[in-house]
Amino acid sequence: EAILSVRGLRKVYHSDGGDIEAVRDLTFDLGRNELTCLVGPSGAGKTTLLKCIAGLLEPSGGEVLLDGVRVTAPPKNMAVVFQEYGRSLFPWLRVAENVELPLKNAGVPKAERAAQVAEALESVGLSHVPRSYPWQLSGGMQQRVAIARAIAYQPEVLLMDEPFAAVDAQTRADLEDLLRRVRERLGVTVLFVTHDIDESVYLGSRVIILSSSPTVIQEDVVVDLPEQ
Ligand code: ADP
Ligand code: ADP
Repeated sequence: EAILSVRGLRKVYHSDGGDIEAVRDLTFDLGRNELTCLVGPSGAGKTTLLKCIAGLLEPSGGEVLLDGVRVTAPPKNMAVVFQEYGRSLFPWLRVAENVELPLKNAGVPKAERAAQVAEALESVGLSHVPRSYPWQLSGGMQQRVAIARAIAYQPEVLLMDEPFAAVDAQTRADLEDLLRRVRERLGVTVLFVTHDIDESVYLGSRVIILSSSPTVIQEDVVVDLPEQ
């Protein structure tokens, strides 16, 4: 049973140099509680696709359906984790406050917030540092805080854009195992973007490969053909 459907999705960026078709007519479903990996080389349109799914970018064509409803704005039951954990966490807020913020913004009552923050930190093995500031933690720990913040809201769908690309190999392996455990425990549907085929095969129960680079459609191009 599909929780998320991408139907004929297309995204074109318009720039001075011409139009860039970053996502071209893409169709796929995400099964509920599956971890699907989206692999492709740099420039294949992975981030663009993720932003369209997250309701952060308006598609040029096609649609994204979440539980059968068209996504036109960031859905409440969807969370995103980006590669740059350093930029996504607020440096002036403590770890627990960072995790609590989206719950606060959503109007979750204080008592529930405390329980959800504690549970999320426990899930990522960070119960011991709730009062630390992000910059006091290692890169791997900061990304665990970002994951805790994403899962604290108990989203149905978790989108992850190369979340472990900026950490060293050992930390990355630890984070991959952590994600597998967290996902099994929470039963959340994950779309995991990576350019690393090994990582995708290790993590995913399904792998979607974006093989093509985006098509560059240029108007008014004059090509000089050699004389016959
Ligand atoms: P990936 O995440 O697979 O590396 P992206 O989605 O970031 O791919 O980019 C796909 C293509 O769209 C690239 O050619 C990129 O240069 C272009 N692109 C991405 N964002 C923009 C933008 N805001 N404006 C114009 N072109 C963009
Ligand atoms: P990484 O391999 O993620 O860069 P470090 O080598 O910096 O991690 O840290 C190794 C371990 O030390 C962490 O997994 C964590 O258990 C502990 N640690 C690091 N920084 C802190 C901190 N500020 N507070 C508590 N424990 C920490």
